[in-house]
Amino acid sequence: SQSELDYPFKLLEYFNGFRVSKVIFSACELGVFDLLLGAPGPLSARHVAHELRTSVDGMERLLDALVGMEVLEVEPAEGTGEGEDSSDVANLYLARGSSKSLHHMMTYQNQTVYPLWTHLGDAVREGRNQNEKTFGLQPEDPFQAVYRSDDEEMLKFMGLMDSSWILDGHDIATAFDLSCFQKIVDLGGCTGALAREMAKAYPSSSVSVLDLPTVVDAAKKYFSRENDDVVFHSGDFFLGDVPPADLYVLARIVHDWPEEKCLSLLRKLHDTCRPGGGVLLVEAMLLETRRGPLMAQIFSLNMLVQMEGRERPPSGYTRLLNDAGFHDVQVCRTGKSYDAILAVR
Ligand code: SAM
Repeated sequence: SQSELDYPFKLLEYFNGFRVSKVIFSACELGVFDLLLGAPGPLSARHVAHELRTSVDGMERLLDALVGMEVLEVEPAEGTGEGEDSSDVANLYLARGSSKSLHHMMTYQNQTVYPLWTHLGDAVREGRNQNEKTFGLQPEDPFQAVYRSDDEEMLKFMGLMDSSWILDGHDIATAFDLSCFQKIVDLGGCTGALAREMAKAYPSSSVSVLDLPTVVDAAKKYFSRENDDVVFHSGDFFLGDVPPADLYVLARIVHDWPEEKCLSLLRKLHDTCRPGGGVLLVEAMLLETRRGPLMAQIFSLNMLVQMEGRERPPSGYTRLLNDAGFHDVQVCRTGKSYDAILAVR
């Protein structure tokens, strides 16, 4: 547009995007939001620096930037004149202890996604993920990289997966009326977060999760709830049989894998699911033209840099599902990060 030609506001904002992200990531890592949430009132930068053992100058600049980003607010503080206080949004989403905390999402973006994205140019040039260059791993499949080495990396990823459904879980579970499906199995259901939303929305259905054995062990150990109404199965959805079900949920599974692997998995589900049964795909869906939404376009690049798959427009999912034998494909855009696609056998 003419105004961008006169002065490239948008471009400058984009150039700066990674620094804006890093301000939030670093504040999370240092524990700024947790400290502010626990404090009885606004705190001065000096106080925050002292508590978190940082330089005063560095903390002052970090807090100033967070105020500029409207994540923190400046309030009158006792004794020191002015102090920083968390906004309601920061308290709700950025502090560790809050019920809607996205702290795990931040940590994963900062420690895993950010280093991968430094090789985005190479990913585009080579048309493949950058796990080897970034983490020195030569994985057979991308989940060997995701779950590399130790529990810590696995828990970080599981925390990331879990966080998304704090935001989108209810909308996805209720995007369609699924109450006619008695037995629901969430394949690759990770911590069980989405499955729990399904169990809440459809109390007369039984909901279970299938995931890799180490993931199921960690889910039970670290993410279980009291009176959990979700059952866990260990298995490999590519290699083994999947439990019989009326509805299979594949949330953020299809976008991980190349076309032929998705197709063979969907064909297996088609053969296994009961007559009248179906499959619910959950993904960030591109527009049919692929000209948006920006978030889905960015996720698709993320699949290139980290995995083996891609994000698709509705016709991409319809074609896959039809090729696997499913029909009556219905698409629901939630208007949030993730969308739902339902098809029946
Ligand atoms: N569905 C969850 C969600 O949306 O929060 C997790 C999505 S995550 C991108 C992919 C999941 O698939 C992980 O939990 C991973 O452990 C699981 N997975 C990967 N390969 C698998 C396999 N061969 N068999 C079963 N689960 C697998």
